[in-house]
Parts: sequence; structure tokens; C-alpha cells
Amino acid sequence: MMMRIVGVLFALALGGFAGAQTLDIYVIDVEGGNATLFVTPAHDSLLIDTGNAGAVASVRDAGRILQAMKDAGVEQIDHLIITHWHGDHFGGLAELASKTTIKEFIDHGPNVQPGELADNFLKTTYPGLYAKAKHTVAKPGDKILMPGLDVRVVASAGETIKTPLPGAGKANPYCANYKPGDNNAEDPQSVGIHVAFGKFRTVHLGDLTKNKEFELMCPTNRIGTVDVLLGLHHGQSSSNSEVAVHAMHPRVAIMNDGTRKGGEPDVMKTVHSSPGLEDLWQLHFSLLSGQEYSVPGMFIANPIDEQQAAMPIAPLAAPPPGPGAPPAPVHNGTAYWIKVSAKQDGSFTVTNSRNGFSKTYR
Ligand SMILES: [Zn+2]
Ligand SMILES: [Zn+2]
Repeated sequence: MMMRIVGVLFALALGGFAGAQTLDIYVIDVEGGNATLFVTPAHDSLLIDTGNAGAVASVRDAGRILQAMKDAGVEQIDHLIITHWHGDHFGGLAELASKTTIKEFIDHGPNVQPGELADNFLKTTYPGLYAKAKHTVAKPGDKILMPGLDVRVVASAGETIKTPLPGAGKANPYCANYKPGDNNAEDPQSVGIHVAFGKFRTVHLGDLTKNKEFELMCPTNRIGTVDVLLGLHHGQSSSNSEVAVHAMHPRVAIMNDGTRKGGEPDVMKTVHSSPGLEDLWQLHFSLLSGQEYSVPGMFIANPIDEQQAAMPIAPLAAPPPGPGAPPAPVHNGTAYWIKVSAKQDGSFTVTNSRNGFSKTYR
């Protein structure tokens, strides 16, 4: 407790000195999984997801989250959202919980896609993790209380908000051309949140699929417009309809893709044709983009361990799911985040921690 108070005082002193009263968002590289950390000016923290499962991956990904926490000057997680019960989202949780205090665990409720990894975790590990903390099953419309921020659950357990957020609710012109997509059982259950900080707006919808995007965004756009669109379901084509991406009119999108996961051509076309988009930032060079569809390297945070001189121009077709595919290039070495620092006036700066490249959106 004392450490935390000293930490907060130190952070406040630093903040006062620098005049920085920003909401900081760390989009952390967890190899095509998700881990996104929000830190308020008062140093309250919200983490969305914990990276991958596995002996090597969970330690690697929890370690990368702890690094971001250290950079942000936070020593505990005040609120943790596990968007859904896939291993690339909850996989690093037990490891992370062994290294730091998590005060509140938020999820959508039971797993609906039977699988050994998630079912065992929920039966034997998860209850012990939240036993001494708060456990919340999120419902659309719920608020997550964080002083200085307005954090609203907009989707959970397959349900979406029925009433528009303040200022939203206009007819969505993209609904007319909507085409349904594929989904598994758990992605559509994702907990999705909308965050407002002064005039700044951002949204993270977990791995919510196109069919749920349609329910959330049609016939009226209940989210409104955002400054930053976070996640994009790793840049995969089962999500990212124009109904969602174009209607939310993001200035910046930040994709949590992997070395061979997401960033495929149809998603890149949708994102790059989104009205008002200024830049797409990516956690990884993805073989599924090739140079043809990739953004310039300065907007990409991470290479692979055995980096080749150049990425092929043509995008690689996604290998069929299942154990037959060759393994994706690994990245277990030093990882870099993409950091957003947002101000109350709605302006924000995005920084690539690999190369230091930074851009301010006024
Ligand atoms: Zn990586
Ligand atoms: Zn995922």
C-alpha cells in the first residue's frame, strides 16, 4: 500500500512537472493475441486481455505487460477485462496474476465454445484468481468506474447496447451494403468497451465479429465516431466490416496483428478506404499483408527474431486452420509497444517504441 501511495505521489509530481495530464494507452505486442493497457492521469489502470497461453508464451506475454506497467508507473491492475475465452486473450492471466495484484476481474460469463484449455482454466484456475478480488460479469450499458474516464461496456455475451451513447444514434449509411461474416462461438461473446476522456474517444471491441458489428451499428450507429479504433480483431476478416470501421470514422486505427495473423488484403482495403482515416499502425509486419498491403515500416512496431532483408511483395494466403500449417515466424525477443497519449481536448500522440517515430493528431 505504501509503495502504491509513494508511486502515485511520485507520478503526480512528475505529471505536475511535465504538465502532462494524459490518458496513456499501451498496445502491447503479444504475438497476435491481445493486451491493451489504459492508464489515467491519476494512475488508475485498466488492462484488456493478457496475451497467449503456453509455457513460453505466457511468461513472455505477461513479462511484456509488466514492462508496459513499469513504463507507465503502475504497480497493480485496477480493472482487468478478459474479452472472451480464447487462449490468445486469457492465456497469460495466471502468470500475470502471480506477478502483480489484480483488483477486479471482468468477463462475459461462462465459456460457450467447449475446449480443454478454456474449460480447465475456468474450472480449476480462474476462481482462485478472483477469490480475493472483485469479479464482475459485464452487461452492455455497464460503466467501469475510473475517475476522469467514462468507460462504458457496449457489448458482452452476445448482447449489444440498445440505446446510443451520448451524441451517437444517427442512421448508419453503410448498413445497406452489409454482408454477413463467419464466426466461431466465443468471438461474438467479446466484451467491448467505449472510452471517453474529455473530447477524446476510443473503442476496443475485443474480437467481436461482423455479425455483432451489424447488431451494434445498424440501423443506427450507437457508438458514434471515435478518434482511435483499437484492436481490430488482429486485423482478421471475420471482423472489420465497413458497417463498423467506416461508420466509426476513426482518425487512427491500431491493429494487434501477428507475424502471420491478420492484416490480410480485404481488411487492409476496408481500413485504408475508411473516410477520415489518417493512419493505420500495426503491432507487426504480417506475412498476410505482404508489402503490397502493408503500411510503411515506420508505423509497424515489431519485426521477427530472424528478420529477412525484405518481406515479399505479394501477400501470403492464410494457411488453413489446423495442425497441418507450417509454424508462423516467431518473435520471442525484444518486443515494442505502440503508445497513445491522449489529451482532454481530443488531441493525441501515437508513438512507435521500436524506432521512436511519433505523430501528433491535433
Ligand atoms: Zn511480436
Ligand atoms: Zn483473438
